[in-house]
Amino acid sequence: MQIYLNGKLVSKENATVSVMDHGFLYGDGTFEGIRVYGGNIYRLKEHIERLYESMKTLELDPGMTFDEMCQATIDTVAANGKRDVYIRLVVSRGPGDLGIDPAKCDKASVVIIVDDIALYPKEVYDNGLSLSTASTRRVPIDCIDPRIKSLNYLNNILATIEAKNAGVPEAIMLNHAGCVAECTADNIFMVKNGVLKPPDLLQGALGGITRASVRELAEKRGMKVEERALALHDFYNADEVFLTGTGAEIV
Ligand code: PMP
Repeated sequence: MQIYLNGKLVSKENATVSVMDHGFLYGDGTFEGIRVYGGNIYRLKEHIERLYESMKTLELDPGMTFDEMCQATIDTVAANGKRDVYIRLVVSRGPGDLGIDPAKCDKASVVIIVDDIALYPKEVYDNGLSLSTASTRRVPIDCIDPRIKSLNYLNNILATIEAKNAGVPEAIMLNHAGCVAECTADNIFMVKNGVLKPPDLLQGALGGITRASVRELAEKRGMKVEERALALHDFYNADEVFLTGTGAEIV
């Protein structure tokens, strides 16, 4: 396995970052999860755009242009010679001191890992998936906007623990107003009377690339799409509910 680490391709054994990296110490950084189908990187530009939007808000400079980041991703996939894989791209604040001040971190760390992807088992796609509703609420957008794909996933992890304890693979997360935000690692949609209804992103959701693809396809087919605030009541009474994500695809 060839891993991109700060401008070089290195073996997995040599792909190490400092314990003083603020990504490790404080979850200070951002990441992307991207799929490769038959050697084609799915929506690379959109993923790198989301990455640069996260970094803009975090005032995190990766020391690379948008085009350089795209090329580094393409080169890392090519170096691994695999056609159907998952890419994990991480930009962390880089090594600093033990305080939280990002200004003390001279240089961001950029890591690109290309590895196999574990999908949900086939029966999930045939029969659907059971969900619970987590009691852990999604981080409010005035604390950490969930549109930032931040390295700090504790909010989602706490809800995942709840889902596992409830014996289901995924959980719905509500925001502080009790509206449906998304799931722990997937976006959620409902369909009612032929109208596609995703919760709007300001309810507290990541702007999923798969979510955007589904919206686009639905609109192309002339389906009405309404983004709005939705409660559990709406989902309980939906005609269809499905999840979208890079790993899950559409469930
Ligand atoms: N929401 C969260 C919290 C996620 O982590 C992800 C990605 N796993 C998604 C939604 C889906 O986003 P995408 O379609 O870009 O993978």
